[in-house]
Amino acid sequence: MPKTLRLILGDQLNHQHSWFRKKNDETVYLIAEMRQETDYVMHHIQKVASFFAAMQRFAIHLSESGHRVIHLSLDDTANRSLPTIISDLSKEQGFTHFQYQLPDEYRLDKQLQDWCAESNLVTEAVDSEHFISTRNELADIFKGKKMFLMESFYRNMRKKTGVLMHGNEPAAGKWNFDHDNRNKLDSLVAIPKQPDYQNDVSDICERIRRHGVKTFGNIQENKLIWPIDREQALSSLQYFIDQRLEHFGTYQDALSFRDEFMFHSTLSFALNVKLLQPLEVIRAPENAWILNPDKYSINQVEGFIRQILGWREYMRGIYWLHMPAYAEMNFFGHTTPLPAWYWTGKTKMNCLKHAITQSLDHAYAHHIQRLMVTGNFALLAGVNPTELDQWYLGIYIDALDWVEITNTRGMSQFADGGIVGTKPYVSSAAYIHKMSDYCGSCHYDHKKRFGDKSCPFNSLYWHFHARNRHLLEKNPRIGMMYRTWDNMSQNDRDGLLNQAELYLNRLDEL
Ligand code: FAD
Ligand code: SF4
Repeated sequence: MPKTLRLILGDQLNHQHSWFRKKNDETVYLIAEMRQETDYVMHHIQKVASFFAAMQRFAIHLSESGHRVIHLSLDDTANRSLPTIISDLSKEQGFTHFQYQLPDEYRLDKQLQDWCAESNLVTEAVDSEHFISTRNELADIFKGKKMFLMESFYRNMRKKTGVLMHGNEPAAGKWNFDHDNRNKLDSLVAIPKQPDYQNDVSDICERIRRHGVKTFGNIQENKLIWPIDREQALSSLQYFIDQRLEHFGTYQDALSFRDEFMFHSTLSFALNVKLLQPLEVIRAPENAWILNPDKYSINQVEGFIRQILGWREYMRGIYWLHMPAYAEMNFFGHTTPLPAWYWTGKTKMNCLKHAITQSLDHAYAHHIQRLMVTGNFALLAGVNPTELDQWYLGIYIDALDWVEITNTRGMSQFADGGIVGTKPYVSSAAYIHKMSDYCGSCHYDHKKRFGDKSCPFNSLYWHFHARNRHLLEKNPRIGMMYRTWDNMSQNDRDGLLNQAELYLNRLDEL
């Protein structure tokens, strides 16, 4: 007679979890497709299909390994919420105990805690055994400090794990090799093809449609490119090491029409659903560098490791320290609705058209597209961060609240007033032109600051600074900007502000 029901959420597909070390007839694992998860925000179809496909593969893997599994599809769960599904199963099958892994999202954490508090079952929450730091480690590290700098946290994680360390010193003598990175894409460099697993998810898509789940974006139902099981995830990691790591850091910030993925790992989905463990993804490039330093230079390897050992763990720490308040922060008081073309890609601005169209096609854009193109524009235009969160949370294959909201409200929109970043990430067309090949064929002129066909990034950039002067002027990293502004002629300042107003009044037509 089974006694314990163990819940596995869609982003908890961790093959190495200690739960699975012992087989036990009295323990049953529950994996369930749920409307509460497909509907809390409108998602890209590839995101819903990839989650459901990966859950299905994980359920098969567990049962083939000898575990007892209940895998419920949307047909079984219909409109029932997670608490109702657990309660119903417990009654039907006489479970006396309920266990779950700590969710990464505040929403689910609260829902399960509330249910457990009222339940008659013996309940227990265990660690998801995925992250390198604990939920509260960041708070402990910075106890009593005013600034929570990512770089300090990252160094702490390097010491904790021994990754890229020689005793107490950083390997190769430096903590950070950013200075050697971040070039524009060299037109002669060959870009490796994106690995494509050609997963057939047509059954899943049919089910999603039949249940009337609202999704958006494009999909090739018999050729889903995303890795959906451990084998595919490991092969993605190997492909990255063999083909892309060599140039990762150099072109980390490059933007180009030539390719949507360039030298990025595209491992975020596999990592966020826990098919891959962060430490194995970090150790792989470290070992590649140790074994073959001629092929893999330290700046490529350190640049990649910092994203996961630094940024990913840091964002999670910030999330647990500041939720639920974080989700409401709006430092600039921005209220502008998200321009309609964020949902279609139909804009004359080349950089935005490319970033959004590829996001609709692949549920993917790399970091600089998210930060310096779509995020930058939204911040300059004063878009409501809640609307923007919903867009980022829906459109990206890797989007989960804990890492989406900290990146969007924090890093990209400065809506947290400087918890994550020391200054807003904004730029005029100069940065996009420097890092991309977008501007040459654009309807707008990247050199023109105002007047006909002037690039909107230019006038909006100055409008943003002028309208937020009272909030930003004292920031030591921004003060210079106001001296440049004050030194401009009145004619230039008026031209920029008037142009920006014209654009802001017809954002949907840009
Ligand atoms: P790579 O460039 O190959 O980087 C390797 C890995 O490092 C990524 O897979 C990811 O796990 C990690 N990483 C890199 N940058 C960050 C970061 N800033 N924060 C946390 N982890 C990072 N990432 C998500 O996983 N989910 C999100 O919902 C998400 N939303 C974002 C929203 C905005 C506005 C911005 C600016 C960034 C967002 N990011 C998010 C961070 C980053 O853009 C993605 O992790 C990355 O683009 C995923 O592609 P990749 O796997 O090819 O990454
Ligand atoms: Fe983007 Fe302006 Fe360049 Fe066009 S000119 S691609 S809008 S930065």
